[in-house]
Amino acid sequence: MPTAKERILEILAADKIAICDDCLSKLAQVTPRQQVNQICRLLRDAKTIERFSGTCEKCGKPKLINKGLIAASVSPKKPTVAVASNLDKRINDIHYELEQLLRKIKALPRGTSLNDYIHQLSRDGYVPNHIATLMHAVRRLRNDFAKERVNFTNAVVAALEASWVAIQEWAQK
Ligand SMILES: [Zn+2]
Repeated sequence: MPTAKERILEILAADKIAICDDCLSKLAQVTPRQQVNQICRLLRDAKTIERFSGTCEKCGKPKLINKGLIAASVSPKKPTVAVASNLDKRINDIHYELEQLLRKIKALPRGTSLNDYIHQLSRDGYVPNHIATLMHAVRRLRNDFAKERVNFTNAVVAALEASWVAIQEWAQK
């Protein structure tokens, strides 16, 4: 998992934007904000970024802002935020479609949690155990991601996608 410093550098290098500590704190998911301040001052001393008074390109407020000086030395990866927001949508879409899929198999009362839905349908023999396991994996990963804000590596995302492929493959039979 990238360190707070790496995440900050990724934002400043990849986006080439000049932004304030508050916005950087949100984008890089580095809290408390004081930690951003601390890291940015060290990066400025190392001449990796510059800090100056200006208008934040994110929130538009006049503030002390940070701008990356050397993009090349930082990993060429996309900013984690962009990935995260797409991933947010993707994971929610899968979660939603899984719910619809179960609803088509058998309608249970509104308000039945996805957890209960999977349990009941597998107990009643509609969903085989191994597929139910994958459904629970999708459900739990979505909770970890959406609620606990756990950072997923590419391999974890791939596992989630593979689970979803297996569920759909089973559903189409
Ligand atoms: Zn800002």
